Amino acid sequence: CVILGIETSCDDTGCAIVDSQCNILGESLNSQQLIHLQNGGIIPPIAENLHRKNIENVVNNALASSKVHFADIDAVATTVTPGLPLSLKIGVKYGKYLCKKYNKPFIPIHHMEAHALTARMCKKDVNFPFLVLLISGGHCLIAVCKDVNKFLLLGESIDDSPGEAFDKVARRLKMKNIPEFSTISGGQAIELAASRADNPIQFKFSIPLLQYKDCNFSFSGLKTQAKIHIQRQEKQHNLPPDGIIPDLYNLCAGFQLVITRHLCHRVQRAMEFAEMKGLLPRDNKTLVISGGVACNNFIAKGLQIICKELEYKMVRPPPKLCTDNGVMIAWNGVERWRTKAGVTKDLDSVDWQKSCPLGENLINEVKKAE
Ligand code: ATP
Ligand code: FE
Repeated sequence: CVILGIETSCDDTGCAIVDSQCNILGESLNSQQLIHLQNGGIIPPIAENLHRKNIENVVNNALASSKVHFADIDAVATTVTPGLPLSLKIGVKYGKYLCKKYNKPFIPIHHMEAHALTARMCKKDVNFPFLVLLISGGHCLIAVCKDVNKFLLLGESIDDSPGEAFDKVARRLKMKNIPEFSTISGGQAIELAASRADNPIQFKFSIPLLQYKDCNFSFSGLKTQAKIHIQRQEKQHNLPPDGIIPDLYNLCAGFQLVITRHLCHRVQRAMEFAEMKGLLPRDNKTLVISGGVACNNFIAKGLQIICKELEYKMVRPPPKLCTDNGVMIAWNGVERWRTKAGVTKDLDSVDWQKSCPLGENLINEVKKAE
């Protein structure tokens, strides 16, 4: 089959055409990152306007680059949840418009399910069931993916997402005042700065939730710990309001290190739970990591160590497929086409939804398990 996918859940307008042999036939992406960086965060009506302005071009560019005619496309897959309502609306409206115009079925897509399944397009040997860690600007969760649209949620963040923590700390560090960090996301800026540190343990951070046996995550306390370190340095060096702390690189490295240690700790806990309950095949265990924060090579290396120790194969899609894109939506459409899950011609029956749980929630069971 050949599926056209549309993504507009947050700040990227994406479209791609993907077939069931894992070929990306065409793709196009318009990122709003620079504009939102200038505004110090995403302002939903601005994101909405940019999606509205760009959606037609993005879809046409993806189609043109694929040289596929609409007649040869089997269905239109579109992110319907979770995301910013104003952003989701634009994609859903355009997806439905295309379905009506060309008389094609619509495939509603859960954005997080799409992040998880992309690994199966990138690597042929990612079979169900597998463990998946999704870390991004809006989410943080760990789940067992049993099948297309069958997930067991083992843990999630009890407050912020790791991407948000990276972005907020980068902003507090005023990194956008330094030209080389001014055009990249907070997470990318912190990773780059951390790579230049000469003492990553200069600033002490304590790992969150260490005493809890569940596999939930927490990042807001780490943000506060970083803020306290920054304030102390600002005072100590008597910095002006736009001043950059002298130990910027070491602070970034310390922050990245504690995030990595926290993620590793929780993933290890999830692996132990999955093993105890027999949720994964003993001889072929896979951890998929994805989402924007999974682009971080230091974090990936940390997780790789845990995987090696516990005999998991780790799979991470290339960076441009870890962040939001149309390809993952089209691929999710391909996976759903095979099982016909959600595929519909009744356009009135589908709509966007601000949030929607990913599968069955096992978080309380994980809490109870010793
Ligand atoms: P979601 O997918 O949850 O809807 P989103 O659209 O914000 O959220 P992505 O595009 O997947 O998510 O990721 C963006 C986030 O990833 C930003 O918060 C950014 O700081 C973070 N990020 C990107 N690259 C890196 C990196 N190298 N290290 C750490 N964080 C990173
Ligand atoms: Fe995403």
